[in-house]
Amino acid sequence: MSRVYNFSAGPAVLPEEVLREAAEEMLDYRGTGMSVMEMSHRSKAYETIIQEAESDLRELMNIPDNYKVLFQQGGASQQFAMIPMNLMKNRVADYIVTGQWAKKAYEEACIYGKANKIASSEDKTFSYIPDCSHLPVSEDADYVYICENNTIYGTKFKTLPDTKGKTLVADVSSCFLSEPVDVSKYGLIYGGVQKNIGPAGVVIVIIREDLITEDVLPGTPTMLRYKIHADNASLYNTPPAYGIYICGKVFKWLKKQGGLEAIKAYNEKKAKILYDFLDESRLFRGTVRKEDRSLMNVPFVTGNPELDAAFVKEAREAGFENLKGHRSVGGMRASIYNAMPLEGVEKLVEFMKDFEEKNLCTE
Ligand SMILES: *Cc1c(COP(=O)(O)O)cnc(C)c1O
Repeated sequence: MSRVYNFSAGPAVLPEEVLREAAEEMLDYRGTGMSVMEMSHRSKAYETIIQEAESDLRELMNIPDNYKVLFQQGGASQQFAMIPMNLMKNRVADYIVTGQWAKKAYEEACIYGKANKIASSEDKTFSYIPDCSHLPVSEDADYVYICENNTIYGTKFKTLPDTKGKTLVADVSSCFLSEPVDVSKYGLIYGGVQKNIGPAGVVIVIIREDLITEDVLPGTPTMLRYKIHADNASLYNTPPAYGIYICGKVFKWLKKQGGLEAIKAYNEKKAKILYDFLDESRLFRGTVRKEDRSLMNVPFVTGNPELDAAFVKEAREAGFENLKGHRSVGGMRASIYNAMPLEGVEKLVEFMKDFEEKNLCTE
């Protein structure tokens, strides 16, 4: 068996320890004589799994009691519709568009009401986070929406926007559990787990209780109402049971690493190695305004598409997988989520240095 360094943006690397544990429990989960995949979601064993997952997540993120944690399906993309369907009481919402995912959410909201683009960084290919200290927040906005970490472009909100008292809604798919957050600053936090927490198919929604109401847009399907999931503790129908089980293991792994303060320090250390190299390199450069750089997704280019392609190919042969940039940006992107070991980043930088030397000599 040999594992590669997997820099995929998602689905992405998971802690090896978690995968091993899941493998051990595959055929017989703790004396039940069956796999978690084969188990009733109403069984005692599964009840423990989902309840522990929730309580570990609450502990990790220090989630206040007046917030519900919902384990749902449909990908992060389904939330693009679910959020307006449930929260757009006045049919007005403000969107800060800092990348493709925020743009998709904004476009989806336009189906349901008046969505206002109150800030954007599209003018410079989303390579920065716009100033959000004096936003033209709409008086009757039901919420202000952000994508907190822009997976494709590699930018991150370092300070939350001033929403002038309006409810903040955030897509944290690609920065989920990468650092501590103050949940009380948000009305709703959500993320697809396949970037930093678990297998695709699970979406976690953390929502303040007063936002969970019967008063949803007409025609909202039962399955797309937060209330139905909240009232049934995420067991209204069969949840993505195996995926939640893996998420639970990752939560325990994070607690063992020392929680979110510790993982943040580790993530900063990893990102610094890569960014420091990009800043001094004569071949590679980062594509994002320095103060807005993400700890999780690091896009970079050589400036020469052929050289970029050669780099991706040679890197792959050397055991560094999925470094090709998103198809809309080109170049390279290294996603260095929680489970990417420091050693993976160090070795990547060594490889980049070698590549640089080789390719500068021949010019
Ligand atoms: C990947 C991603 C999405 C889309 O997730 P799906 O689960 O594929 O719908 C949305 N937002 C962000 C920030 C992402 O990184």
